[in-house]
Amino acid sequence: YSVARKLSLGRVPRSEEGRTAKIMVFVRLRPMGRREIELGSKSCVRITDDRDVYLTELSSEMDYLRRLNRVSGRHFSFDAAFSDHATQQHVYSTTTADLVQGVLQGRNGSVFCYGSTGAGKTYTMLGTLKNPGVMVLAMKDLFSKIRQRNCDSNHGVHLSYLEVYNETVRDLLSPGRSLVLREDKHQGIVAAGLTHYKAYSTDEVMALLQQGNLNRSTEPTRLNETSSRSHAILQVMVEYREKDSDVTLVGKLSLIDLAGSERAIATDKRTLRSIEGANINRSLLALSSCINALVEGKKHIPYRNSKLTQLLKDSLGGACNSVMIANVSPSSLQFGETQNTLHWADRAKEIKTNQENIIQLIPKSDSDSQAKLLLELQKENGD
Ligand code: ADP
Ligand code: MG
Repeated sequence: YSVARKLSLGRVPRSEEGRTAKIMVFVRLRPMGRREIELGSKSCVRITDDRDVYLTELSSEMDYLRRLNRVSGRHFSFDAAFSDHATQQHVYSTTTADLVQGVLQGRNGSVFCYGSTGAGKTYTMLGTLKNPGVMVLAMKDLFSKIRQRNCDSNHGVHLSYLEVYNETVRDLLSPGRSLVLREDKHQGIVAAGLTHYKAYSTDEVMALLQQGNLNRSTEPTRLNETSSRSHAILQVMVEYREKDSDVTLVGKLSLIDLAGSERAIATDKRTLRSIEGANINRSLLALSSCINALVEGKKHIPYRNSKLTQLLKDSLGGACNSVMIANVSPSSLQFGETQNTLHWADRAKEIKTNQENIIQLIPKSDSDSQAKLLLELQKENGD
């Protein structure tokens, strides 16, 4: 290729997996909540062999007793399924650790949590101070891998934390104005004016994310007083160069806590909240259309239909390793939502991501102009 010759790179490397790879799909069951116990709900989800999920609609107490000790119901199988005993560390190691490794080799990765409000998405992604989640454990792992590999390496870790709320994009690290999405010739879709925070340690990241999360838009709904109706996206850009190497590897990791997937129909039609509902539906609907189009191998993927899908464009179908974590409640009261979530998770297993040109190499010298050329090359080879 002409641009490749200009760069004297020979060829742009391909990933070992070949041209396409599937998205990895996981399910995480959370413990029964106190309220769910008080309301007398039973567990309708059962996990066996760390990957099989059985969903049972319970019609009576008898039914429940009959089914309690055997596996029955609709069966799904995933790359892994986590029971309510799974630790945050175990979930992180199984779902995301490989992606962090990949980012240091210049591969983009994305992890998104999908599920209804209260299913455990924020717990999985952000977690608590005592039990930090994937976002924090990923940063910790990243810093420790960089330290282990080479003290003299040159690296930079830059964080952005943003939300899509009511079809507006906001900067969670610098709240206030909403951001405009722009198509950049070299970087694809970018949020103009977004804060890029240069991070040095896990502790500051944890504080930063907790603070950022407080800036997330919340609106009480009838379903759940504290439900967050926003999609939160943590983007981690990593530049990495080994001591004696003359290439800088650039990788981007996106960690996404999606808004509740429950149908807007469940909330009041005439209030502001239902407008939000409609918009959240719009983003999630657009996400499901994109998933469908990707599964069916369509040429046109409707990323432009929502802010969320525009932002996830390079994470979903592009040169990226993608992971979906579907969060579910065990409660029979949530049967419909759990069924819905498992349906989409099952569907997402069929998505093939484009693994071509997945590694971004940027030569040390004159990295800026060459990086641009390289991105052009990737664009020419992509699509
Ligand atoms: P979502 O973000 O999907 O709306 P949350 O993550 O806020 O749901 O979870 C709802 C509640 O359940 C929270 O109080 C959270 O701490 C708790 N929870 C969720 N998942 C777990 C888990 N795996 N272990 C313990 N508590 C959990
Ligand atoms: Mg949440």
